[in-house]
Amino acid sequence: MDPSDFRRHGHALVEWIADYLEGSERYPVLPRVAPGDVRRALPDAAPEHGESFDAIFADFERVIVPALTHWNHPGFFGYFAITASAPGVLADFLSAALNQQAMLWRTSPAATELEETSLAWLRQLLGLPDSFEGVIYDTASISSLHALAAARQMTVPGVRDAGLAGRDVGAVRVYCSEHAHSSIDKAVILLGLGHRSLRHIPVDDNFRMRTDALRDAIAEDTASGVRPLAVVATIGTTSTTSVDPVREVAEICRRDSIWLHVDAAYAGVAAALPEQRPHFAGWEQADSIVVNPHKWLFTPFDLSAFYCRRMDVVRQAFALTPDYLQTAEGARGVRNLMDTGIQLGRRFRSLKLWMVLRDFGTDGVRAVLSEHIRLARLFARWIDDDPDFERVAPVPFSVVCFRARPHTFAGTSKELDAFNARLLDAINATGDVFLSHTRLNQRFTLRLAVGHLRTTEQHVGRAWELLKQHTARLTSATTV
Ligand code: PLP
Repeated sequence: MDPSDFRRHGHALVEWIADYLEGSERYPVLPRVAPGDVRRALPDAAPEHGESFDAIFADFERVIVPALTHWNHPGFFGYFAITASAPGVLADFLSAALNQQAMLWRTSPAATELEETSLAWLRQLLGLPDSFEGVIYDTASISSLHALAAARQMTVPGVRDAGLAGRDVGAVRVYCSEHAHSSIDKAVILLGLGHRSLRHIPVDDNFRMRTDALRDAIAEDTASGVRPLAVVATIGTTSTTSVDPVREVAEICRRDSIWLHVDAAYAGVAAALPEQRPHFAGWEQADSIVVNPHKWLFTPFDLSAFYCRRMDVVRQAFALTPDYLQTAEGARGVRNLMDTGIQLGRRFRSLKLWMVLRDFGTDGVRAVLSEHIRLARLFARWIDDDPDFERVAPVPFSVVCFRARPHTFAGTSKELDAFNARLLDAINATGDVFLSHTRLNQRFTLRLAVGHLRTTEQHVGRAWELLKQHTARLTSATTV
């Protein structure tokens, strides 16, 4: 592509993106395609001769766009709703053009130092002490993997050189609640600790880790010679956004010198709001914390912020510099990002965090988060006030867990589960909204997660209207 074509297509693309960001509602949130449709619409092999960008873009619009799930749609209420905001999109455009590969300070002084600066800004916004050093990974799964790798480095002597296999290192244990994210399971599997090394601690009625059960589990394991390796506490669990009692968990960890990792992947940014701070009490005592700006800080996927008070241990676990990567400034102690993780090459992710934080300002960030929380509480009130619905969990942040329970419904609890599953399919089929589900106390539960920048009361109202409409329709269909 020559420079003049680049300019022409680039301008057209910016127009297209601007229209999209402004008007993503013209698409159904969930695409109306069947498995295999996209693959069948595309040739089996790459073209032998280069094609024009006009032709490529026409196929993008014809084949790709209709098969997109629109995470950037204000009616997206599934999982955790997210936003690629305009400054973040522009930053990623620039990042692709600059193609920075920030393995060493030398290979991108700007990306290396901007990562430090933008993570320090975020840390201040969240009220964390500057004893936490930050590094950016792609996802929370990888951040938590590094946290547990550091815990393993601390707990299993010689693990870096001798590994785990073929020697008797004794059993170790990682603890998290029954509601912790499955990325913790994957981390213990990948670290060679074995899935059985993870002990899921029961939760109380509000889905928070029970610290009495944690204490008992640690005592029982220690008495039988199993060494506690880490506790993972979650602020904002995946299903209900419940908050583990981190301060108490931190006390237990301090007493027994156990690594404490806090998974605040979704909810962490809410610490920017003074009124939300009580949920975060004690997290400053953690050894490591993960917060995902790509979840609730309007930053395009992917960007996970990993904070650690023992980054020296992360370096002990991962730093390894082959001759070709040695530099004079590295020898003088300048920070090389490749030392704090498994990855060598890394993208210029900090650019989007920096641009988002500057574009919104801390007051702008707080305003959006507050509004999302207000909308979730409003929706929760509608649920609470309606005899055909019930709320299934508290709403500490911007997610509501609920289900339909029509007052005339006389079926079994299994039939009520099936009713809610049909209700979910029906409202998602409208294309106006997308909600996802979870299972709480064995009951099929619907979730409404507010998190998109352009989501307003009107969108939440539309979700509520559809829920009521389809509940009434399905109820009369069931009765008939
Ligand atoms: N931790 C929590 C609490 C989550 O809810 C999720 C995903 O939703 C993750 C970790 C994994 O996030 P990622 O996709 O960034 O790995």
